[in-house]
Amino acid sequence: MTVPFLDVGASYRELKEDIDVAMARVLDSGWFVLGEEVERFEQAFAAYCDATHAVGVGNGLDALHLALRAAGIGPGDEVIVPGNTFIATALAVTYAGAELVLVEPDPVTHNLDPNAVPAAMTEKTAAIIAVDLYGMPADLYALRRVARAHGVLFIEDAAQAHGARLDGARVGSIADVTTFSFYPGKNLGAFGDGGAVTTNDEALASKLRSLRNYGSTVKYHHDDLGFNSRLDTLQAAILGVKLAHLDAWNARRAAMARGYREALGDLDGLTLPEWPDDRQGSWHLFVVRHRRRDALRQALRDRSVATQIHYPIPVHLTGAYANLGYREGQLPVTEDLAQQVLSLPISPHHSDEEHRMVVDAVRAACAEVS
Ligand SMILES: *Cc1c(COP(=O)(O)O)cnc(C)c1O
Repeated sequence: MTVPFLDVGASYRELKEDIDVAMARVLDSGWFVLGEEVERFEQAFAAYCDATHAVGVGNGLDALHLALRAAGIGPGDEVIVPGNTFIATALAVTYAGAELVLVEPDPVTHNLDPNAVPAAMTEKTAAIIAVDLYGMPADLYALRRVARAHGVLFIEDAAQAHGARLDGARVGSIADVTTFSFYPGKNLGAFGDGGAVTTNDEALASKLRSLRNYGSTVKYHHDDLGFNSRLDTLQAAILGVKLAHLDAWNARRAAMARGYREALGDLDGLTLPEWPDDRQGSWHLFVVRHRRRDALRQALRDRSVATQIHYPIPVHLTGAYANLGYREGQLPVTEDLAQQVLSLPISPHHSDEEHRMVVDAVRAACAEVS
């Protein structure tokens, strides 16, 4: 038996009847783009996030890109982004035509450090994008204070953090704009691509509704240079079914995370993720650190446990951003993390037996490589 890293088909097997009904409803309706199904999901997702508005878009990258555009951010502006994120956070800034300013994360939480942000700000700074990496909310209140003090927009990339909370408040209700991805592997995943933006700003929400649909809210009246990036109607119907299960699924992830913490906390050389009292992570990923990460990963593979690395090459060292002119060593915290992080299997659909197999394998593998 092998423990898979993730099985994105498992949620369909769990909810097959309800999802089949939802899909048939869309197919029978003959309405395949936007429409009532998308509106119903947007309302449900906004309510879930304690936000006034949710706007469905094509994917998580577009959610970020359109949020920047809707706020009027573009050429001549700078946007602060953590150095250790999935490349989409950076690409959105580049798509908008703004300058990317990469900031080192806090080495313990791996999230943007509010104390490190002011030094990176200039007169051109127009926005700060925090990422709730691995599903653990960033220091959102402190970062929002920094943004407010400088009069810039505070955007949160919550692609990994659906349902997470900070001081009891839901992710999606705290930043000026919060963006989500419904990529199949996320905590709330579609059976294809999807994304959403939440905000309490009415003007921003209506700009987003226009930008995602060719710059138009009334057919053939185009007021903005828009895009085609709508949340697919079939996906909205599927997401509506899955949303009702998200809290229970996140609780199963948290239980698995707690189990890892109890069973692996004593291992030399293995650093477990932080567990701050004031926040409830979505446990999208369970990321450990080890100085001999590659050897540990191989030792786990030898024991039939699949792992992944989020992320092996930091944004500033990718070929895509060679033009930024970074050299190795310029973002040492980010680069160390890229060398040391390892994601263990975590999902609502791993069995107790699989969980125990991972624990046993990690204990044996750590002994072997230390
Ligand atoms: C998945 C992800 C995205 C991009 O989402 P897509 O739907 O794949 O475009 C953006 N940011 C982070 C942090 C992500 O994990």
